[in-house]
Amino acid sequence: MADMAEDPPLVIGSAEGSWLVDTDSNRYLDGVSSMWTNVHGHHHPTIDDAIRRQLDLVSHSTLLGSANAPSIILAEKLVEITPDPLCWVFYSDNGATSVEIALKMAFQYQQQRPDPKPGKTKFIALSDSYHGDTVGAVSVGGIPIFHSTYGPLLFDKITAPAPYLLRCGHGPSYDERYRWCIGELERLMESHGDELAAFIIEPLMQGAGGMIDHRKGYLRHVRQLCNEHDLLLIADEVAVGFGKTGKMFACDQEEVVPDLICLAKGLTAGYLPLAATLTTDRVYEAFLGGPEKTFYHGHTFTGNQLGCAAALASLEVFGAERTLERLAAKTGHLASGLGKLSEHPHIAEIRRQGVMVGIELMRSVEDMIEFPPDTGKKVCRRARDLGVIVRPLGNVVVLMPPLSVTLEEIDLLVDAVATAIDQVTGEI
Ligand SMILES: *Cc1c(COP(=O)(O)O)cnc(C)c1O
Repeated sequence: MADMAEDPPLVIGSAEGSWLVDTDSNRYLDGVSSMWTNVHGHHHPTIDDAIRRQLDLVSHSTLLGSANAPSIILAEKLVEITPDPLCWVFYSDNGATSVEIALKMAFQYQQQRPDPKPGKTKFIALSDSYHGDTVGAVSVGGIPIFHSTYGPLLFDKITAPAPYLLRCGHGPSYDERYRWCIGELERLMESHGDELAAFIIEPLMQGAGGMIDHRKGYLRHVRQLCNEHDLLLIADEVAVGFGKTGKMFACDQEEVVPDLICLAKGLTAGYLPLAATLTTDRVYEAFLGGPEKTFYHGHTFTGNQLGCAAALASLEVFGAERTLERLAAKTGHLASGLGKLSEHPHIAEIRRQGVMVGIELMRSVEDMIEFPPDTGKKVCRRARDLGVIVRPLGNVVVLMPPLSVTLEEIDLLVDAVATAIDQVTGEI
């Protein structure tokens, strides 16, 4: 993420609602909700106060060997709001660790379950998936520019083709390409099912891979295949969780229950680092019965009180502000704003789930001719001059406003990005 040759970065001094203010007092709309984390806007009084109140009690005491009140209350709330069979919470402090935990748990579960499956040691994941930057998470990831350097460090996995229909070469129509992707997935599950511990997926929308959205029913189909081949489903909801797709969790959109769910980014509404991995009774019980069955994993700042207090306050705001109920009108407005761009000659595709948007740029969509690889970055730089912060993933421009964004702010965001795209693609 650190390109040493980039423009000097903005130095942010303060923030309010959807707006970031730099140290020269310039205001910018936070169009990617501070790396997909901020849910209710910056400087939210309820969350600010909750952290202050917690600060007056205790900031951190270890969760290793003792407990703390906010982590217990938050665990109860998380169990309440996640799909039903998920009822055990394991805390950590960032998205990658929440994934490492899920991977290790799934692996160990297969060894220790009542009918042990010692051959089930591998993972299956989609191409272009992203699960974090630690070595285990990179092993199940599939983004060449981030991951290829570390090849020799990584463990083996099975890669199924992401249903990235724009770039799937197998068939002229999207329907045929989709069928090919499903066919490949089924074939891989059939031939490797016996050696697979778990399927890890970013439900509905693969974020860092370029905002690759999945068709309705895809996640459900993956769940069904996992059942048929007796493997666990790990839903990495680090990016999509906490309302980003329009419901609290992406799995809710298809009424799918994963065996493990990974939560981070939006968990504290973007205030503090905190993560949680939730699982079911079935998985939990495989770890009971003595030290040789224990899950040996713990992070120093696991279940930190300030983080848990922020997360609890965020859930309170979801209720008090009816955030999810009010979201449909906003995402509808976002969709119609983006709709006006869909005929743009240099926009190959606009992919969206809820507030998560990827605008893929191409010189010629018909002939699949690419722009120079830094075009997305130039568009984002131009948008910044127009008062909007957005980030590129290659030549995909990503928009992800906070759930608290207003309709006027959505207009501003879409207009600035449209202008930036027009100007930059016009100059090439
Ligand atoms: C950001 C992200 C992660 C990693 O989270 P960190 O807090 O950066 O470690 C994992 N999975 C997904 C889907 C993400 O978007």
